[in-house]
Amino acid sequence: MLCYNCSKPTFKIFCKTCEKEFKLLECKRRILDDGLEVISFYKYSKIKKLLNHKHFISGYFMLNKLASYSYKRFHFDNELAYALGLDDDCSSGYSHTAILIKNMKSKNIIPLYNAIKAKNKIIYKGKSLLFRKKNKRKYELQKTLDLPVILVDDIITSGESLKQANLVLKKAKIKVLFAVVLADAKV
Ligand SMILES: [Zn+2]
Repeated sequence: MLCYNCSKPTFKIFCKTCEKEFKLLECKRRILDDGLEVISFYKYSKIKKLLNHKHFISGYFMLNKLASYSYKRFHFDNELAYALGLDDDCSSGYSHTAILIKNMKSKNIIPLYNAIKAKNKIIYKGKSLLFRKKNKRKYELQKTLDLPVILVDDIITSGESLKQANLVLKKAKIKVLFAVVLADAKV
């Protein structure tokens, strides 16, 4: 088969060169205007091309691999917390954020699936900030949470989705520690 990133022949998802490159994380942080800290693992430009796989089953293997290099290596020792993936479009047959939170499972992090759902299945990709603000996702909590939360998504652009989810959790008196994403389109 061919490397998912550079199309060189390989027996794995990524060729040796790309594997080495993706194992190298460039962690960045951004503080959103509601105070939420967002940690990202990659430069958006580095993984942009790979994201085309997201709409196909190949994206499942690609995301799982990337998450094993990034989310899996994420250490968090402070306290016990849930990892909550933002509800996403499952038309490709799998949830992107479910793959990411599965990889975060550790002594202190418990992945919690389908805990927050968007009532409004609007697609934000390519839409303006004004559009995003006017058309809220309307997140709803599906579970009772007794621990603080780490919010998880794949890409952050305006931060509008994370902020909306953060607000819903805040209103339910649940502590949101920070958010973790694969890449930040703005840093
Ligand atoms: Zn490659």
